[in-house]
Amino acid sequence: MSANTNEGIRIRCDYPGGNVKVASIDEERGVVEVAPDMRDSSGRWFHWDFTVSGAAGRRLHFRFPDGCEYLSSLGPAVRPGGGAAWSWLHADGKRHEPANAFDYTFAPGEDETRFAVSIPYSQRDWDAFLASLGRRPDVRPGVLCRSQGGRRDTELLRIPCAGAPASWLFVFIARQHSCETSASPVLEGVVQGALADTPEGRWVRGNADCLFVPFMDKDGVEDGDQGKNRIPHDHNRDYAAGRYASVRALKTLVGEASCGRRLVFLDLHSPHVRSLPHCPEQDQVFSFGSADPVLDATWNRFRRHWADAQRGGALAYDGSFDIHAGEGYDKQCAEDLAHGLMSARDWAQTLPGCFLATTCEFGYSLCGGVFSFAAARELGRNLLRAVQRTATEAPFRQPDT
Ligand SMILES: [Zn+2]
Repeated sequence: MSANTNEGIRIRCDYPGGNVKVASIDEERGVVEVAPDMRDSSGRWFHWDFTVSGAAGRRLHFRFPDGCEYLSSLGPAVRPGGGAAWSWLHADGKRHEPANAFDYTFAPGEDETRFAVSIPYSQRDWDAFLASLGRRPDVRPGVLCRSQGGRRDTELLRIPCAGAPASWLFVFIARQHSCETSASPVLEGVVQGALADTPEGRWVRGNADCLFVPFMDKDGVEDGDQGKNRIPHDHNRDYAAGRYASVRALKTLVGEASCGRRLVFLDLHSPHVRSLPHCPEQDQVFSFGSADPVLDATWNRFRRHWADAQRGGALAYDGSFDIHAGEGYDKQCAEDLAHGLMSARDWAQTLPGCFLATTCEFGYSLCGGVFSFAAARELGRNLLRAVQRTATEAPFRQPDT
């Protein structure tokens, strides 16, 4: 769509991941009032993604409703003028305040500038990533199931074990909450790690079947939904109820494929949009411990290996922001479980061969450093390395009874 300044300021979100409700545009003062479109999510959440035209040479003030955080710690992600490169409004790492407004000056001739709460990631990004891997016989793209609305495929990538038979099953999933884009390049990094010509990559390909589901809520990703807090519950509270097709298909697949094997199950997420005084971990990398003492001991070994592998990386991870069982947000998860709202990790931990099952969270813009896709892929490669080292460090054993 081309811009014509005579038409004034225009805002659109008619593309994968797009989401906005425009409340008002004050042409004269240059004030634009917008809000996320909540659709079928309850309460308030913060996913929005829109493109502005007709504002070349102007400075605009974008304002969201009061009373909630709508901007990440570094402000909006910006892609100026229909280009390819995304950056943060505060790429220097300076914290953006307030959390519900920002100003932006459009250069003369700048048009079709896209703003989003996070750096977007949808199917076309995954397709480009798969294409970047080239043709390899050990990379098997496929389909987990049709999407919830039946309009699309929910992708499943397999990297089958080269040796036979595999004694391990590694499962990595993302976007159970469709808005959580920072998890996606981390997942790419995990795939890169599994395919790498490194000791860890070679071990994984020789000992494990690897399954990757990049978009558990596929329709939500493409439609630009919040995904979080869907009514009556979202994908990551669906592992008892089985309301969603992808959850049912994943449970069947992993339940069968993990039989007689040791299972590693990692569910990748993004946390709240920015840190707050009582939850500093939201601008970091963190994962969750387990109420099961054996699984918790394995998780502790894993986080130590991850911190070792990530040392010197662009995004800091040293385990200090991890949430132990019964603490912080894990209390809410336990309460949800008591009400029958089972998460993916809760479910995976019930499987007989479960060795390690956790949720990993990756801050949107500050993530132990300034978030970029390159840095997130590095984090993912090191995550895979840590899983491999945890798996090979000690023989698996059942808890003493
Ligand atoms: Zn999430």
